[in-house]
Amino acid sequence: MRIFSKLPYIVKILVTATIVAVCVIISGTLMMRFSTSNVPVQATNSPTVTTTIAAQPTSETIALPTANIPTNSTPLEISRTVQIEKNTTQNTATSNQIAYGHFPYPQADRSQMMLIGSYATGADQRFESLNTEAVQAFMKMTYAAREVGIWIIPVSGFRTIEQQEKLFQNQIKRRGSAQAAAKISAPPGHSEHHTGFALDLTDGKSPKKDITLAFENTDAYRWLTKHAQEFGFELSFPANNKQGVSFEPWHWRYVGSTNAAAVFANARNQQ
Ligand SMILES: [Zn+2]
Repeated sequence: MRIFSKLPYIVKILVTATIVAVCVIISGTLMMRFSTSNVPVQATNSPTVTTTIAAQPTSETIALPTANIPTNSTPLEISRTVQIEKNTTQNTATSNQIAYGHFPYPQADRSQMMLIGSYATGADQRFESLNTEAVQAFMKMTYAAREVGIWIIPVSGFRTIEQQEKLFQNQIKRRGSAQAAAKISAPPGHSEHHTGFALDLTDGKSPKKDITLAFENTDAYRWLTKHAQEFGFELSFPANNKQGVSFEPWHWRYVGSTNAAAVFANARNQQ
């Protein structure tokens, strides 16, 4: 207090004012606490404020579990897509090994391919290409067939690994598992189509039999089984083939050149 009395007049006022101000703030805070707890009606009277503030964080925390709810409600689809991803990564990782009976085939250089035809079913319209080594033989074959009234159409030739992956995934969705899909479609990195020496053929007169087992009962198939070999083409997956792949009457490969024959050497030795 002695020190206080020695202070200049203005400082005394300032110090007193500060002490008073602090007291006012403290008492004010205490008053507010007591008043809100004493008047609960007010708190419930302003639910908009409390609920909106509370709703925002809760809606965010709810959003996370609800985002997970569809995952749980459609376990089949999700688990399948996860399976597909696992399988495709497995297959690309082990691309030098046989996958579900399918031999590995590296993707040929697109620059080696030549356009051989177009194919369209509704919205699906595309151009198909084949390795230049096989193109002339294919042309000769289709024209030899044409001379006897057989209309052969190439519906699928060279395919990239990316394209095959999409096809294979679609088959997994349809068939339920990679193993079942592999019966009728090669896993990516394992399709003969990657080489540019394989192609799927149909009968232009029987579009409903395109890429179905019913193609076996067409003039085109009957003619091919008799004459394709003369042009260097053979059926890749005949009935009961050793690879364990389903019978594919539409899928043919070219083995008429040294390169082409070498590409399919493993598969041919197994037949
Ligand atoms: Zn094919």
